[in-house]
This record gives sequence, structure tokens and C-alpha cells, in this order.
Amino acid sequence: MLNFTVGPVQSSESICAIGAEQVPYFRTQEFSELMYENERLIKSFAYADKDSKVVFLTGSGSAGMEAAIMNTLSSLDKVLVVNGGSFGERFVELLSLHRIPFSEIKLPVGEALKKEDLDKYNNQGYTTFIVNKHETSTGVHYDIDLISDFCKCNNLFLIVDCISSFLADPFNMSALEADVMITGSQKALACAPGISILVLSKKALQRIEMTTCCCQYLDLKIALKNAQRGQTPWTPAVGILRQINVRLKEIEQNGGVEAEIERTAKLANYFRERIKKLPFEIVTKSLSNAVTPLHPTTQSAHKIFEKLKDEYGIWVCPNGGDLKDSVFRVGHIGCIANKDYDKLIDAFNDLKLNNFI
Ligand SMILES: *Cc1c(COP(=O)(O)O)cnc(C)c1O
Repeated sequence: MLNFTVGPVQSSESICAIGAEQVPYFRTQEFSELMYENERLIKSFAYADKDSKVVFLTGSGSAGMEAAIMNTLSSLDKVLVVNGGSFGERFVELLSLHRIPFSEIKLPVGEALKKEDLDKYNNQGYTTFIVNKHETSTGVHYDIDLISDFCKCNNLFLIVDCISSFLADPFNMSALEADVMITGSQKALACAPGISILVLSKKALQRIEMTTCCCQYLDLKIALKNAQRGQTPWTPAVGILRQINVRLKEIEQNGGVEAEIERTAKLANYFRERIKKLPFEIVTKSLSNAVTPLHPTTQSAHKIFEKLKDEYGIWVCPNGGDLKDSVFRVGHIGCIANKDYDKLIDAFNDLKLNNFI
């Protein structure tokens, strides 16, 4: 099976090997050292401030999204949230559920956020801005510099979901003055799903201190207290944290985060150059390196997904809901290489030859 979805993605041999091992006991100095190293490397790759902290939650990326909201916001906040697809919608639902006042900037499919979309919200008493830097459902990558400038001008607390863009697109938490950065283990980290990671600025740490979290499992105060000794309050997904450690060290040895982003960008460009003669339109002009969202002009997107899966052993990423028949996505994250894209392009050409697309 060749996997071009956006998560879980393909893991390297070394990561898979850890998945096959016994899971060790973890209340040990050795595991604490591993966790300190994970924290150091995540902070370094996110360009986080020295006094920021990292929390590893057992739960997928969505647990990190909910934890960010429950631990840093209250009914006294007034949030501006970007909703350009199903992940933006998830933040909207979470804000409603947790009764945090908010306004949403709803964007049509494929549209990037523009300065004009933000202008009318200047000086309107907002306290917080929330965005999925890369709206993975439609493949739209927002202009984070534009958002950061707006937040700096309006003195807003900035929560950024980087779940699918961390390690795939540039992100400098410190320069952007972002306060919460969220990512997960099964996207560009290319490990098994089950760990969500939050990087927290000094301002975020102060907010967490002041906020009552009505969920013990996701209470970041408890997590941060345990993190001081390199531990988690509850039994974590120990095996995945070990995979993350190996993966982070491999990235460091191979030139660090810049080199990893460059590798991903090259894969994306290789693919995008080679599909020009196929009956696909790229859904947005504002692309991430992580994914190419495609609108097939001659066949249902979902039928293409099924055909590739059943007859070629290739997984592209289907869309759901309204976009089920009009969009599918091809990921560029995980352990994949140009030769894998050659196989996918061969399959597309074969479908074209057979008049399927
Ligand atoms: C994958 C993803 C999520 C959700 O992560 P889960 O691990 O499925 O909970 C949230 N936001 C973005 C932008 C994503 O790509």
C-alpha cells in the first residue's frame, strides 16, 4: 500500500521498528530524559521562546485543540476564529460548546484570508485570534504574517493549529508572537496517531494559571507541573513518545527543520509539475507544502479515490461532506519519495488511457 493521505502517513523503518517493540515502563529517569529532549527539539523546530513550555497530551490533534480552548480561554474573552473548512468549523464548535464568545470569519472553499477580511475587526474589543494555519480539509494555507501583524496591532492572544503544517511549512512562533502552537504525531511528524503537542508562550502559561479547566485529563496545569520532572500525569502513549524522539533526532541530524521543510517542498513541487497534463485543477492558489488539493474535472473525486485504492493499492486522501465528489487530496508528508509519486502519476496516466478520468 502506498499512502498519500494527510495522516496517518507513512513512517520510516526506524519508526515502525519502535512500534513493534514492547512498551517500557515510564516512571524512570531515562524516560524523563527522553521527554526533556522531545521538549527541547520541539521548541527549537517551532522557534519558540526560551521560557515557553511544551505539553505532550495523549489524544489526537483534536485533544490539543480542545485543551487549548479549555485552558486558556473563558467567557470573558472575545474570540475571532477563521472558518474555511472542517477544521475551522471544529474550533467554532468547541467555542460554542465551552461557551466562549466569538465571531467567525467564514471563508468560501479555496479562498485565502485577505487583509480586507480582517480590517473591519480592528479595535473591536477582541482578545483572542484562532486559526488553523493550514486548513487541511481544503488545502488552503493562510498568510500567518498577515494574521500575526493583525494580532500584534490589536494585542490579541494567538492560538495556531499547526497540526498539518508543522515541519512542512515555515513557522516561527517567537517572531510571530504566537501563544499556543498545536501539532500532532501522525502528520508531518510521521509517527503513529495518539499524541498531541502544545507549545505554550509565557502569556499562555499565565492564562493557564488563571483559568479553571473543567476536565481533569486535559488540565494543562497538571500536565505542566508533571512536565517539570519530565513526566505526564497519566500513562501516556509511551511508544509514540519514543517514536517522536527518534524522528525529532533524525530531523536534527539531517539538517534540522529548514531541511525538512525543504524536502517536503521539493516533493510537493515534483508532484505539482507532473500533473499539469491531467484533468485536475488545483483548488487554491494559497498552497501548503503538505498537501495538493485537487478538483478532477472529468470524474467524481471519490470514485478516483476508490479506484486507486482497490485496483492500484494507492491511497490518496478523500474529502467528505459537500466536497466528497469534487475534491481529493494528495499529501507530501511522511516517509515518501519521488519514485512513489512516479507510481501515482503512472496510475493517473493509466486511468486517463482507460478513459476513467
Ligand atoms: C489532522 C488535523 C486536525 C485533527 O487532528 P486529529 O489528529 O484527527 O484529531 C486538526 N487540525 C488540522 C489542521 C489537521 O490537519
